[in-house]
Amino acid sequence: MIAPAFMPACVSCGWQGRPRRIWCPTCGGAAWADAPLPDATVIATTQVRRHLGGVVDPPEVIALVITDDGATFIARFDDASPLKPKDRVSLSFDGGLVAHPRRKSSRARAGAKRKLGP
Ligand SMILES: [Zn+2]
Repeated sequence: MIAPAFMPACVSCGWQGRPRRIWCPTCGGAAWADAPLPDATVIATTQVRRHLGGVVDPPEVIALVITDDGATFIARFDDASPLKPKDRVSLSFDGGLVAHPRRKSSRARAGAKRKLGP
């Protein structure tokens, strides 16, 4: 079991984002609570082969993901199997966001479309 990543969430409407805001950008609410991030879909991936001042060996895989409620994040990917666009992932926090591949449901394998975002 992977511990989910938590993110500040508006108590009124559920909008999530960092840094924690004074007022919710969606509804203007001012009450916040930490809530787990929903699963996400990979938009794009890349490999980081060099950091400032050094070579990264083995290369780090970075993914741009969009959560089921429409927030986008950059996440690290530690698994050996490669991610590709449209893959489903769950997110955890380990010194930064980490993407973990989700097993495809029978509905997803059957090619069902899923609506993303609002
Ligand atoms: Zn709100």
